[in-house]
Amino acid sequence: MSMPDAMPLPGVGEELKQAKEIEDAEKYSFMATVTKAPKKQIQFADDMQEFTKFPTKTGRRSLSRSISQSSTDSYSSAASYTDSSDDEVSPREKQQTNSKGSSNFCVKNIKQAEFGRREIEIAEQDMSALISLRKRAQGEKPLAGAKIVGCTHITAQTAVLIETLCALGAQCRWSACNIYSTQNEVAAALAEAGVAVFAWKGESEDDFWWCIDRCVSTDGWQPNMILDDGGDLTHWVYKKYPNVFKKIRGIVEESVTGVHRLYQLSKAGKLCVPAMNVNDSVTKQKFDNLYCCRESILDGLKRTTDVMFGGKQVVVCGYGEVGKGCCAALKALGAIVYITEIDPICALQACMDGFRVVKLNEVIRQVDVVITCTGNKNVVTREHLDRMKNSCIVCNMGHSNTEIDVTSLRTPELTWERVRSQVDHVIWPDGKRVVLLAEGRLLNLSCSTVPTFVLSITATTQALALIELYNAPEGRYKQDVYLLPKKMDEYVASLHLPSFDAHLTELTDDQAKYLGLNKNGPFKPNYYR
Ligand code: NAD
Repeated sequence: MSMPDAMPLPGVGEELKQAKEIEDAEKYSFMATVTKAPKKQIQFADDMQEFTKFPTKTGRRSLSRSISQSSTDSYSSAASYTDSSDDEVSPREKQQTNSKGSSNFCVKNIKQAEFGRREIEIAEQDMSALISLRKRAQGEKPLAGAKIVGCTHITAQTAVLIETLCALGAQCRWSACNIYSTQNEVAAALAEAGVAVFAWKGESEDDFWWCIDRCVSTDGWQPNMILDDGGDLTHWVYKKYPNVFKKIRGIVEESVTGVHRLYQLSKAGKLCVPAMNVNDSVTKQKFDNLYCCRESILDGLKRTTDVMFGGKQVVVCGYGEVGKGCCAALKALGAIVYITEIDPICALQACMDGFRVVKLNEVIRQVDVVITCTGNKNVVTREHLDRMKNSCIVCNMGHSNTEIDVTSLRTPELTWERVRSQVDHVIWPDGKRVVLLAEGRLLNLSCSTVPTFVLSITATTQALALIELYNAPEGRYKQDVYLLPKKMDEYVASLHLPSFDAHLTELTDDQAKYLGLNKNGPFKPNYYR
């Protein structure tokens, strides 16, 4: 959604102002290195950076919580060929070493490494931008000396990111941000390659925090960078090891939830290092949220239900990036799509894209499929569920499992029948069945795979954010949350264009002058969405 010039993005106006607009491509030395001449420092801001503010006791207490929602929200059964039941012994009880004799890891089964390596190699085929980052660095190691502690989904795609960071000079210790999403064979391959990885599919809550702790707290190794997805790792460091922040040069955070927490810390004056908000990068929102969902919504629905979409009536709640992606796919297959929205702008976009904008109550009796994409809570209530017709499919594409009131279905008069993995029939006393997918968790991450190429775009953005924060001269970033400058977003996009054999038009001098742009970009202001 484009924003008018004068209006900052809701909630991130301040941060957007902080994301300095870069006129000069040469200032990003890594980009200069990989595109032109080597050996220039990345530089573009000028304020002093201090590591003096540490969380107060109150601050630490307020952060304290149990296992996060994001860590249990999704799990990718389809993406992994192994599951937690293949061996009942907890990895924590096992003595395992890789072929070089190292036991600096904890995975389900190191013997699956070869299999995992093949998965990583397949992912590399569609992550050419990260591979080209490795190649184009030409021996220069922009992350030499970086000690990155990471907490993300551990899949073949993130393995390509982790190995890219290592190839660029970083040492990495990694845990999973979700207790279900680890591909065990991929974790094994990383461990075999020497990455200190602590993760397996089906961790308990205790395992989850133990794995994070093992990454942060180890003799003779202290992280100086954090890559987080969901904010749990950052939370743990704040809570247990606040002194670690003396050495941390920056946090890179991917998720909506994690970014929200960073802004809260910043607002409370408790953020003690600079942080990059990757979630709000154009290259994340416009690609991950939109195209990832466009490509995976049908996959998730078909794998679980074998439903045919032509002529089916579908209501999509929320017409943001995720909703737009879902609707585009559904429309293409001939579904009749209704939208619910609270925001008049998104509602108007839906109207102009040819969708009927309705209240959920108006259509709930007639629709065949209900999909939530709002990031909100209680969008589909028990009342809605009561009024749905027999065989109505209900699922969620938003981040957390709060959008559908699944708890309200756990009542004695309703019978639950597990008919397939991730598919429950909830049966009313009169025999009506509602088909609930993934118990209201993220459908695509739970029931299908997501396209590697889209993940490559986000992973490249994360890699560049780490390089930028790590190499930034002292003072460029303060203890605040920043967006990756537009110039870098453009660079991430440009790295992916060769995959399509796409050729950019270059501005003439005259045109550049007319538009008031540098010929090398940025081509849009930072607030452009
Ligand atoms: P967005 O903010 O662009 O869109 C959400 C839309 O929902 C907004 O337009 C908002 O006005 C609308 N909305 C909020 N409450 C509503 C309600 N009660 N009824 C109807 N509409 C309502 O966000 P987005 O980028 O589309 O992301 C949506 C959710 O999907 C987030 O939770 C995000 O984390 C998640 N997400 C999922 C995936 C995936 O792969 N499944 C990928 C990216 C993001």
